[in-house]
Formats: sequence, C-alpha cells, structure tokens
Amino acid sequence: MVNRLVLVLGDQLSHTLSALHQADRDTDLIVMAEVMDEARYVPHHPKKIALILSAMRHFSEELEQDGWQVAYTRLDDSDASKSIVGELMRRGQDHGTSRVLATAPGEWRLREALENAPLSVTMLADDRFLCSQQEFDSWAEGRKELRMEYFYREMRRKTGLMMEDGKPAGGKWNYDHDNRKKAGPDMLRSQPMQFTPDAITEEVLDLVEARFGDSFGTLRPFWFAVTRAQARRALDHFCKHLLDGFGDYQDAMLTDDRFLHHSVLSPYLNIGLLDPMEICARVEEEWRAGRVPINAAEGFIRQVIGWREYVRGIYFREGPDYPARNGLGHDRDLPAVYWGGETGMQCMACAVEQTREEAYAHHIQRLMVTGNFALLAGVDPAEVHEWYLSVYVDAFEWVEAPNTVGMSQFADGGIIASKPYVSSGNYIDRMSDYCAQCRYDVKQKTGQDACPFNLLYWQFLIRHRDRFQGNPRMAQMYRTWERMDETRRETILADAAALLKRLESGVPV
Ligand SMILES: Cc1cc2nc3c(=O)[nH]c(=O)nc-3n(C[C@H](O)[C@H](O)[C@H](O)COP(=O)(O)OP(=O)(O)OC[C@H]3O[C@@H](n4cnc5c(N)ncnc54)[C@H](O)[C@@H]3O)c2cc1C
Ligand code: SF4
Repeated sequence: MVNRLVLVLGDQLSHTLSALHQADRDTDLIVMAEVMDEARYVPHHPKKIALILSAMRHFSEELEQDGWQVAYTRLDDSDASKSIVGELMRRGQDHGTSRVLATAPGEWRLREALENAPLSVTMLADDRFLCSQQEFDSWAEGRKELRMEYFYREMRRKTGLMMEDGKPAGGKWNYDHDNRKKAGPDMLRSQPMQFTPDAITEEVLDLVEARFGDSFGTLRPFWFAVTRAQARRALDHFCKHLLDGFGDYQDAMLTDDRFLHHSVLSPYLNIGLLDPMEICARVEEEWRAGRVPINAAEGFIRQVIGWREYVRGIYFREGPDYPARNGLGHDRDLPAVYWGGETGMQCMACAVEQTREEAYAHHIQRLMVTGNFALLAGVDPAEVHEWYLSVYVDAFEWVEAPNTVGMSQFADGGIIASKPYVSSGNYIDRMSDYCAQCRYDVKQKTGQDACPFNLLYWQFLIRHRDRFQGNPRMAQMYRTWERMDETRRETILADAAALLKRLESGVPV
C-alpha cells in the first residue's frame, strides 16, 4: 500500500531534494516521468532532451539502489499520459492514493498545473538555492532599484564566502574591472571534461534521434555528464585546469575556442547534479590555497551566488506574466539566422553554429552577440525568449527568462538592467577575433559593408530616444549622436532602415 506519491522532476535530480528529505522509503512511491508535454512545449535542442532523460534514468537507478520504490515512465511507454499531472493521476489510481509530495517546480507553468490538479499536493520549497523567495522578497521590499551588486554582497555576508573579518577578501567586493582581457589562441588550454556515453545514454540518444531528430541542434557527439559522480569530476577538472583564467577571459570570444575558461557547469547545477554551495566552496578553496587569482574566484562565485540566485528571485517575485513582457514594444519576427539561416555576420554565424552543435554558448555570446542583435533589430522578446529556452542545454525558465527578457532584451522595463545591453560592432571587435573574418567591416559606419551592429545601434538609440535620453548612463551616446554631421546621421538611419527591410523580407544579412 502506497501512502504518498513523491514527484521528482527532470531538473530535481538531487539526493538532498526537499521532497525526498520528507518522504518515507517504506510507504511512499517516487514518481518520475518522461512525458511528451515537457519534451515538446518548446522545440528543445536534442542534446538538452538527451541530457535530462539520461540523467533522470541514472538518478532513478541510484534511488532504487538506495532502497526507494520508483515508478518510472519512459517516453516510449505506450500507457503513459502526455503530462506530469496525467502521470501522477495514473500512478495514483494504480496505487490507491491521491496524495502527492512535491518540491516546487522552477517554473510557473508547472507550479500552476500541480496546484490545479485534482490531487492533494503538498508543495515544499526548493531549498537547493541559497536565498529563499521570502528572503529575496524582504531584500527587495521598499528598494527603488533591485541591483544585483547589492544583493550579491548580502549573499557573500550570508554564506561567508571570500569574507575576512566581516569584510570582502582582498578589500573589494567585485574584481570585474580586471576581467576584460581579449583571449588569444592557446593550444594548451584545456576543454571542459567530456564523458563517453554509457549504455543508458546510448539508448536515450537513439530514442531522441528517432523522436526529435528534426529539431534544431546536433545530437552527437554527446559528452555531457549524466550523473552526480561525473558532474563532480567535471567540477574538479574545471577547478584544476580552467578556473585560473576564468576572470581574465570571462568576456572574450574566439572562433576556434567555444568554451575558453568557462565552466560549462550550468547544466549540472540546473538539473540538480551539483549544489551551488559545494561549487563555490571548492572555488574558494582553490583561491585560499593560492592556486587561482582572486579575480577568478570572486568572478565565478559572483555568477553563482549573485546572478544565479538574483535572477531566480526576480522571476518568482515578478509573477507568471514576466516572460511575456515587452517593455519596448518590439514586434519583429526572429530572423532566420537564429535557426542557422545564411548570414555574412561572422559573430552571429559562430554563435549560432556552436549553439547548434553544442547546445552551449557562453554568457557574452548570448548577451552581446545574439541578444544584442535581437534587441537592436527590435525582435519580439517572446520569440527571443522561446529561442533561448529551446536551444541551450541549461535553459530552464526561472533562469532563462530573466536573463533573456530582462537582462538581454530590456523587456521588463529595466528591473534587471539599468540600461539596455546594446553595443556597436566595436565591442565585439575588442573582445573577439570574429571581425577579422567577417564579410562586413567593423570600422565602417555606413554603406554596403558597414557592420550591421554599427547601423542598428544608432537606429535603436534614436527609435527609443524618449525613453533613454534622460538616462545618465546613456547621455554620452546621445551627445555623440548630436555632434555628428546631419548628412551622416541621415545616411546611418537610411542604411539601417534598408538593413531592417532586408531582414524583414528574409534576405540574408
Ligand atoms: C540571453 C541569455 C540567456 C541565458 N539563459 C540561461 C539559461 O537558460 N540558463 C542558465 O543557466 N544561464 C543562462 N544565462 C546565463 C549564462 O549565460 C549561463 O549561465 C552561462 O553561460 C552558463 O555557462 P557556464 O556554466 O560555462 O558558465 P560560467 O561562465 O562558467 O559561469 C559559472 C556559473 O555561473 C552561473 N551564471 C553565470 N551567469 C549567470 C547569469 N547571468 N544568470 C544565472 N546564472 C549565471 C551559471 O550557473 C554558471 O554555470 C543566460 C544569459 C543570457 C544573456
Ligand atoms: S564586423 Fe560586425 S557583424 Fe562582422 S563579426 Fe564584427 S561585429 Fe559581427
């Protein structure tokens, strides 16, 4: 006789999960389900589906070895219902219970589905984060601006990470100023740790190939970690071989090096194979032992206990309508280049190609290449959101939507970013080797060969002049525009309009 069903979702693969913590091995039944609704609600990259399914299958084996009873539904199970709630109902009927114990899903859509289900669901807080929603809301309460930097300092104080006598180690909270070096090719630079698929993963890969083979994204080679033990090895490898350069090269982009000094730990963190505090404690240890510089350790820890926790707080504070916001009223369709369409823009081609092959691009590629271009071109943020949610292996709405809708597209009206992240081609040229291989000329501001970022940058600023001219952080840009010769300004706007027209009519740019 089963007392309760204990739901474990595909991004809840942590043995410390609150629902598991409260469950009883003798009387409760774990429910895990691969369902079509989850696999198809956006066109996920096949590598993302494979990662989640394989990690779920491995996790369910670990649970069984640990003495739990697990009812596991495979995607190709003909009796399976299409949804999580449907599977809970089916298992409940089979075992004579409608009581469900769940850890709150990281997405409004699923939370609402569970709340509205004809089941008796006890939803526990997800305590795999350092900051609870209550804590975040009380930090945010009454503040005029919710700046990440101040939130981050609270998290440093709370965790004690890189703190000495109540003060930030080294005397500064933030070493970002040192983190803007351009990277050069380095044959000796390590790559993130790669794993050979085992029999379980191979079976999943065949299934994904058969069912989702026509989605955007290359499935093989597949090398992600699919168990906690493997993810721990990937963390160890990162700390030993790549962390030292993390700070210096955080913003750099190279055509032939897709990962540089980035950790590629987000997929493991986001599905629960790693815990944020264990990662940060390990990174701090590397710094304390003198093996990595302070700007690397601080920069990394800031991303995890700062940005990652902060965007989650915003997502749940702002409510279910957050992903649909469109503060700048943008409505252009997402250009075909995002799905691999032809382009002469080397930066876009590289970012999209590696996204297709790896289901991964690092932060600056997401923010300052694909995000920047969509924002400058005035693409509907809902389409941009759907793209990011689909194509990245680490994309879950609580983290993807604030980064896309808020940070990258300024569609939340400035809750996350104090000014839009827009730049001309000059920034990309400074941080990458893309421009040297591009059909466009980054130095040209007008004409056929002008870098599209240069044209669209000014068009964006003029389009939204009423909104941004009074922003002190943007005043300098408007002054530069005013100082330009009238004819030059007209030419820039006319060239930008022609470029947008080409985009709209589907002509490759
Ligand atoms: C438009 C856009 C969409 C994004 N979508 C996602 C997403 O769907 N999922 C996701 O995890 N991250 C997302 N990010 C944030 C960031 O780009 C990724 O976390 C990072 O690239 C993951 O690669 P990594 O593990 O190598 O990160 P590293 O550069 O090694 O950083 C270390 C860790 O810090 C955390 N981190 C860094 N920046 C952020 C951030 N801005 N928000 C939250 N966590 C952060 C991640 O957990 C990451 O693993 C997005 C950023 C932008 C601009
Ligand atoms: S010239 Fe412009 S479009 Fe080409 S790679 Fe540089 S920034 Fe990108």
